[in-house]
Amino acid sequence: MRIKAASIDAHANMRDGAILKRSETDLILALAGNPNVGKSTVFNALTGLRQHTGNWPGKTVDSAQGYCVHNGQGFVIVDLPGTYSLSPHSQEEEITRDFILSGKADVTIIVCDATCLERNLNLALQTRCITDRAVLCVNLMDEARKKGIQVNIEELSKQLNMPVVGTSARSGKGLSALMDAVQRIACLPPSTENSSAPIQNTEAIFQEAERICRICVTRENPTADMRRFRADRLLTGRITGIPVMLLLLSLVFYITLAGANYPSALLSKWALALQEQLTRLFQSLNAPAWLHDALVLGMYRVLAWVVSVMLPPMAIFFPLFTLLEDLGYLPRVAFNLDHCFKRCHACGKQALTMCMVHSRMQRQGKSC
Ligand code: GDP
Repeated sequence: MRIKAASIDAHANMRDGAILKRSETDLILALAGNPNVGKSTVFNALTGLRQHTGNWPGKTVDSAQGYCVHNGQGFVIVDLPGTYSLSPHSQEEEITRDFILSGKADVTIIVCDATCLERNLNLALQTRCITDRAVLCVNLMDEARKKGIQVNIEELSKQLNMPVVGTSARSGKGLSALMDAVQRIACLPPSTENSSAPIQNTEAIFQEAERICRICVTRENPTADMRRFRADRLLTGRITGIPVMLLLLSLVFYITLAGANYPSALLSKWALALQEQLTRLFQSLNAPAWLHDALVLGMYRVLAWVVSVMLPPMAIFFPLFTLLEDLGYLPRVAFNLDHCFKRCHACGKQALTMCMVHSRMQRQGKSC
């Protein structure tokens, strides 16, 4: 790959809106797209940074900035929070809308999810109306292939009248071609044809997205869609959504607690046996009692307790949580909780972020 990643710590800069260029010739590249389409994964792969990636809404609420060099050209890449359209409904959507409309970016990459292109095309079509310096990145091509979905990239490019590149950002596939397309677009003279305001007629955009997808997307297995639709009705239904969610989360909780008991007891038994061996060693060396108490009864025993109590539940809970994340259940949790959160003037997307912050605070509290 000809992309050379280099990082700059730019979170602070983005908060006050400044963009940190390394040289005058550097180009600014904005990464926009719906939530959970792989923007941060693309960003990390290009810049070598480690923006948090995860399959739940509300994960990226701030912009991040990184740097990469492609074919000798420097790019400052701005990873924008996820948004569904340029008519914002939340603060992070406003950040993205304002950045795209400000014209600060030399090129905007719209990242789309190949498995649900129709919904993602709305933002692409809106962005296309305000700038011709945009490239569509159809990400998650590997997932689409697995689900029997085929996207005709060339036809999509023709229909949208913009460069389109298929990528699988997790494995880095297609990113070099993406940067080639970006570089080609950046070299073009700016056009004066585009309007400076996003399309307001959302109905027309939906229809256009539907029309384009009918031409460019083919599904080998339409029954899989029906199964997904039925599963969604059960997992997010008005009557079934919350009980199923409570059941699933209680199951995770139960497996974590019940499953952790046995390895915890085993680890504790081994740690105690080792403690006795250490005590015998200290006695055979005629070590003073205070040294034995400090090292064996103090440091070692505390460490052994913490490891035997904390390690098994963590080793069970995190894989289970990752499984729910990979199955795409976490966005459904956010959807189910949206109503309750709205009553507190928040939104469901904050549910999982709140869990993360809460568990981090608990861990910090425990370690203090
Ligand atoms: P963002 O919200 O748009 O920034 O999305 P993330 O970068 O956090 O990615 C959302 C989820 O999609 C994560 O679990 C990623 O690991 C996963 N992901 C991103 N790109 C790909 C890809 O090309 N293939 C697959 N299979 N998963 C991907």
